[in-house]
Parts: sequence; structure tokens; C-alpha cells
Amino acid sequence: MNASRPSIYLDYNATAPLRPQAKEALLRALESPANPSSVHAAGRAARDVVERGRAQVGALVGVPAGSVTFVSGGTEANALAIESAKAAGVERILISAIEHDAVTETAKTSGLPVEVLPVDNNGVADLGWLAQALEKPGKTLVCLMLANNETGVIQPVDKASALVRAHDGWLHVDAVQAAGKIAIDFSGLGADTMALSAHKLGGPQGVGALVAGTRATVTRRLHGGGQERGRRAGTENVAGIAAFGAAAQAAQEGLASMAEQAQWRDALAQRLKAEGAVVLGEGADRLPQTLCLAGEGFGSEVQVMNMDLAGIMVSAGSACSSGKVKASRVVEAMGRADLAPFALRISGGWASTEDDWIKCGDAWLAAWKRIGARRREVA
Ligand code: PLP
Repeated sequence: MNASRPSIYLDYNATAPLRPQAKEALLRALESPANPSSVHAAGRAARDVVERGRAQVGALVGVPAGSVTFVSGGTEANALAIESAKAAGVERILISAIEHDAVTETAKTSGLPVEVLPVDNNGVADLGWLAQALEKPGKTLVCLMLANNETGVIQPVDKASALVRAHDGWLHVDAVQAAGKIAIDFSGLGADTMALSAHKLGGPQGVGALVAGTRATVTRRLHGGGQERGRRAGTENVAGIAAFGAAAQAAQEGLASMAEQAQWRDALAQRLKAEGAVVLGEGADRLPQTLCLAGEGFGSEVQVMNMDLAGIMVSAGSACSSGKVKASRVVEAMGRADLAPFALRISGGWASTEDDWIKCGDAWLAAWKRIGARRREVA
């Protein structure tokens, strides 16, 4: 790598770097491998590791350990919630227009009728629409994420839950992006189920959790052994769970410093707006470390490549779409289809510094000016 070029990672919403506490817990667990279902001493030690992780993950969202089922990640947690709701007799699904593909695609393949809950220009779910839609007969599953992965916009989940409860529905909340970035109180939100993923908060990839409240029954999708109290078969990912727990605890302890990212993010936004960029979701509450912007005429892919050449790692829209940059459907849902091909996501996290945000701004502005100059030459 070029010594004079920075290497700045501002793509935490894709994956956060592993926290040191998580790395330590991961390596420690890997050093004494055992199956937590084994009755001997090593097995019992592995069981303790899993249960400690469960308590730490539960504490992050204010639930007892018994409410947490470990799975392979956010995608599986969302699928387990949707299929559990189906097994509990829901007859239709309402999903917000900005849900992650993990929710959208699972809902679509569930065999149940799916309706899409619109969002306003700031990317906030339309609760008036939800109230009306819930008037229709039939037990309903509502999927409303806590914070959007592209814009960081925080959804009015507590208000939605009051509506869903009044109609005896099931509210599933994808909190994969919110967890570890803002404080979460599962019962205060009134959710029935909630999806979490370790790698978005500084744990390893490939481990997540479904949190279920007392009204929700988790119905297994994977059959086999009786692990996770019969809710999810398969030998537990002991080291992953240990690291997830350690990351959850560190994230909880670091919430105040995470909140500080907002001032650096907003300072960057001001600089870019002054040169013509548009900040998406700016009028709504947002995660403190996410900035979604669009520079008209400056394609998302070109932005990402220019930033990468300058040593700054950021994303165009959702990173989960196999390295392919598509126009952001989240931005389209916000009524800004005109800006969707130009959206860029900058997301910091636990190890990001003010200097990272400043250098990111320098690089973006330099590229924006080059593009502008080229367009003027052509014109
Ligand atoms: N939900 C949201 C909001 C996400 O951003 C992601 C990942 O980008 C997922 C779910 C999927 O999580 P995982 O990568 O752990 O399967």
C-alpha cells in the first residue's frame, strides 16, 4: 500500500472491525474447544461460555438471557422470526419499504400475502398507513427495522408496536444496524421478536441472535439436535458466541462515545452540502455514525472507486448485494428516485476518529471537483 495514502475504514454498516475484547474472547474459546452439550468438564466449560455470551447479548437490549436464541447471523434471525410468526398463525405480512433484503426476500417466499408499508421523504415509516392497513381482518406480522442500514434513519418502533398490539399482531424488529450504536430497550419498544448480528457491532461474522418476548414462540427451522432449547438445532458456534457477547458488552459500554460520532458526521455533512451534496434522511433521528449522501451526476460506483483510490473505504447503498452496485431502493422509497443512482453511505464506528471523517470529506470533495471539472470540459 502507498505509504502516503491513508487507509481509512468508514464502512461499519457493512461490517465493523473486530473489537479487541471480542478477539480476545474468540481466541480464548478456540483454545479449549469442546461441545457445550457434552457432560464432561470441558463441555461444561463450553456451556458456561455460551451462557455468558447469552447474558451479555441479552443485556445489550435489556432482556433476560433466556430470551436469546443464537443463530448464524442477522439473515437467519430475520428468517426465524418470520417463519415463527407464520407457524403462530399470521395470515399476512406488512413490511416497511426500507427493510433489508433478509426480511424482504424471506417475506416474499413465505407464501403469505405481503404488503409494503411506505416511508416519507426522510425515510420514516408512515404510521397512518400502518394504522389503516391493520384494520383489515387477519392476524398480521409487521416487520419494521429499528434503524436503516443505508440512511441510519431510526424508525418509530414504539409507536408502531402500540398499533400492532391493539390488533393482536406480531411485531418483528430488525435491530441489526441499531444494536451497539444506540441504546435499545426491547420491552420498551414493544417488539415480539428482534434480530441481532454480531459483525455489525464489533463481533465476528456468522453469528447472530433472535430475541423473543413472552408473547412470541420461536419455532425451529433447522431440525436435528435439541440445542438452543429446541429452537435451533446444530452445535453452537461457541467461539463466535463468546466474541459476540464480549462485543455486545463493549458496545454497550461504548454507547456514549459512539454518540460522539454524530458531531464529526454532521461537520462532514455541512462541508459536503456546501458544495452541493444532498444528505438523505437529514430531517429524521438517525444513528450517530451513518451518513447517506448523494452528489447529483456522481454515480455511486464512481464515488466508491474514487474514494477507494484515495484510501477511504465506504459503500454505495447496501453492501450485501454481491459487490454489485444497484440504485438504492431505500432512496427510491424516500421519493428521491432521482438521487438513487448517486447515493453513498459513509459509516463510522467504535475505532473511527474525527480525522477519519475529515479525510473522508477531503477525498470526496477532491473527487467531486474533478468530476465537475470534467463535466464542464465536455459541456
Ligand atoms: N439486517 C440488516 C438491517 C442488515 O444491515 C444486514 C446486513 O447488512 C442484515 C440484516 C443481515 O445480517 P447478516 O449479515 O448477519 O446476515
